[in-house]
Amino acid sequence: MALPTEPRFTCDEMLGRLARYLRFLGYDVEYEQGLRDDELVRRSREGDRLLLTRDRILAQRTRRAVLLRSLEVEGQLKELQREVPGLNRGVRFVRCSLCNGLLHEADRSTPKPPKGVPEDRWASPDPVFVCRSCGQTYWEGDHTREIRRTFARVFGPEDPPAQDGPP
Ligand SMILES: [Zn+2]
Repeated sequence: MALPTEPRFTCDEMLGRLARYLRFLGYDVEYEQGLRDDELVRRSREGDRLLLTRDRILAQRTRRAVLLRSLEVEGQLKELQREVPGLNRGVRFVRCSLCNGLLHEADRSTPKPPKGVPEDRWASPDPVFVCRSCGQTYWEGDHTREIRRTFARVFGPEDPPAQDGPP
């Protein structure tokens, strides 16, 4: 199975939390509730995506599937790391954790912050990212610190953060 340089994923219905964490790692992750197994298999094939599932029967239907056994996200990330070595290890502001849309850095020349961004955050020089699809906003804060701690427990200490934004 030839993987694209950056793996893409489709998560089954039971793996919504994992889908959000993988998006925080910067990955393109399809996740939608209510899809039939046929549809999940088709999407993973046509989108060249690894199908992540906790369903053994579904996993047997395609060679692109990765069967995960753990019930919680840290265990699932560890299992995935064994199957897909070289996973990203830290938070990247590339994908919206809610909808998988691409993020872009908010334009600081506009005086008013994007919806959902506090004034003091907007006044600070740190970047704010906005989802091109749903408008959700992201920045380095308590929430990302918690997610980074989770990744550190799974993958070990993170490399020093890059100073650049997303491409
Ligand atoms: Zn979004």
